Amino acid sequence: PANRLAQFSESVIRGMTRLANSCGAINLSQGFPDFEPPEALLSALETATRGPYHQYAVTWGAPGFRQALAKKINRNTGLEIDPDQHLVVTCGSTEAMMVAMMTACNPGDKVIVFSPFYENYAADAILSGAEPIYVTLNAPDFGYDSDELAKAFEQNPKAIIVCNPSNPTGKVFTPNELQEILDLAEKHDAYVITDEPYEHIVYQPHVHTYAASLPGAFERVITCNSLSKTYSITGWRLGYVLASAEVIAQARKVHDFLTVGAAAPLQEAAIAGLELPDSYYIELQQAYTRKRDIFLGYLRQTGLPFTEPQGAYYVMVDISSLGFATDTEAAEWFAREIGVAGVPGSSFFREPEHRFIRFHFAKKEETLHAAGKKLLALS
Ligand code: GLN
Repeated sequence: PANRLAQFSESVIRGMTRLANSCGAINLSQGFPDFEPPEALLSALETATRGPYHQYAVTWGAPGFRQALAKKINRNTGLEIDPDQHLVVTCGSTEAMMVAMMTACNPGDKVIVFSPFYENYAADAILSGAEPIYVTLNAPDFGYDSDELAKAFEQNPKAIIVCNPSNPTGKVFTPNELQEILDLAEKHDAYVITDEPYEHIVYQPHVHTYAASLPGAFERVITCNSLSKTYSITGWRLGYVLASAEVIAQARKVHDFLTVGAAAPLQEAAIAGLELPDSYYIELQQAYTRKRDIFLGYLRQTGLPFTEPQGAYYVMVDISSLGFATDTEAAEWFAREIGVAGVPGSSFFREPEHRFIRFHFAKKEETLHAAGKKLLALS
């Protein structure tokens, strides 16, 4: 097999799901909901399966889906999106990120990744022939050091990856931070590649800022996004790349040869989600705020330190006081003995860091109470 495959391992997140299933633990590792998508999507899916959508959609996305997407993005960002020039529909943000990386980078280019990071990014960089270089997000608030960031840009990277709101840290980047990143990218002529699937899962008083919507940013930002989290449809594998017409013309080629396209009936059905009124997003935010409060309430009772997430649905819990040699051992113990599965934090870090386990709380309130009660064994 190719040498590049020795540089990363199989997904630890999905490995933990397998462990949770094998020992019957409540699975708070791989981040996906255990509740149903909105009814509007379910009935649209039933209709779509009986419609004329069983052959390939247009490679870069079904026209109706792209139109609805452009309208929704305009509502959220104020950007005027041309559905025929600025969008490629992909199989989730996972494919979108791979497309963005292969579109932006030549083999040998450097790419800045904030550490801790969602595990796909280093693999995406390596698969596209690029070399990840890292800037630390420092616990407990997971802020970055401006000097360290400026130094990383001195290495003339081709791109920087910004996950906002951030998986696994829960950090929401402020407009000032995004502006600082954009200014450095401008100075060193780098792309800003964002991954924003948690755009609608943000806790007050924090507010999500779209990097692409900042003044003059559109030509430089390649936005990757997904419908998975917003509409609780992680299995539908629907995402997109949003960028300038120049970038999209190239990104379409990468996407076409990787996957041809996302599933046609699912694109048709998902239009119903994109057309949901503003109240849907307000209720989603309220529901996730309740979930966060329930789960963090139990965590507080365990006495384990953690960083309160500003957005997304993950929490990094500091398990160093439990005395395990590694976080992998700790995560296995949590799954087998406590009955709650999380992800060993080290899988998100460049440097050896065994202090954390990441739990997610995208679960029904009853599931969170059940998991929380199990965690109380620690208190
Ligand atoms: N983004 C989710 C997580 O971090 C799901 C990962 C996946 O399996 N695609 O857990």
